[in-house]
Amino acid sequence: MVKKYSLFSISGLIVIISFICFVSTPLSLAIPALQQTSSTPPASETSSSPDVYYITETANIVPTNEKPEYDIFTNKEREERQLPTVLPIIEPYYESKRVYLTFDDGPDPENTPLVLAILKENNIKATFFLVGTEIEKYPDIVKQIFMEGHAIGNHTYNHTYRDLYQSPTTYTEQLNHNDTIIKNILSVRPRISRAPGGSAGHFTKEYWNALKSQGYIEVGWNISSGDASAAKANDILNNIMYQTTKNTFLWDHAIVLLHDGRGHAESVKALPSVIKFYKEQGFQFHVINAKTPPAW
Ligand SMILES: [Zn+2]
Repeated sequence: MVKKYSLFSISGLIVIISFICFVSTPLSLAIPALQQTSSTPPASETSSSPDVYYITETANIVPTNEKPEYDIFTNKEREERQLPTVLPIIEPYYESKRVYLTFDDGPDPENTPLVLAILKENNIKATFFLVGTEIEKYPDIVKQIFMEGHAIGNHTYNHTYRDLYQSPTTYTEQLNHNDTIIKNILSVRPRISRAPGGSAGHFTKEYWNALKSQGYIEVGWNISSGDASAAKANDILNNIMYQTTKNTFLWDHAIVLLHDGRGHAESVKALPSVIKFYKEQGFQFHVINAKTPPAW
């Protein structure tokens, strides 16, 4: 009888709580709110968490070359808390035959999911440099990239050269703005960034100083797929194969520039062959973090 009574009271309580949640909160908000109160997440939820490093207050983590790393604070939050914005210098990690595939200008509703499916099929991770205006349109794709264990980098808010390269301040303002957008989606933000069009010809010493003082790690590339023009899949593959074969001194840190932004279907088409080429050559695929050697 006692057992029956307590069972009734528990189920009664659940019904009342559910009703209160239902009438006071939109359903889409009620679900995460209820999940947050659970002290032990379901096993399925735990195992689906991405395998990444989180930089905390002092930013003194030394990542391995295997995982993406994200900061739990934006620069503005660091300043408010009087925390350091500059990362300690970490020695680059060089090891034979390492390739870093990087995809710029996404997320894109057509190309990015296809790229993610190809990467998953091949059981490899890559790095995505995302543009703020596109992140705002497709936040779910950003979540998917993050949850699948790829690295995310900051590729500025609007990718417009005449805005970005007015001054170091306008440039870093766009990075900070994009960080805030990313943090609103993922609760973390990247420390790596890539200049639209590359740093060469755009960055003066003042730009490098501004980036350094705000803790950003600028990431270039040393193998260009040539997919920014109207190249066909076969040209993209040939460009990559040619530069990789010729420049053996890059084999311990081959950083490959590709695009998954709008209009880059040929890059997606080339991707399985690009991966096959590197696998056949004995390369291992890695994501970019603070330990990745500079491109040059
Ligand atoms: Zn770009």
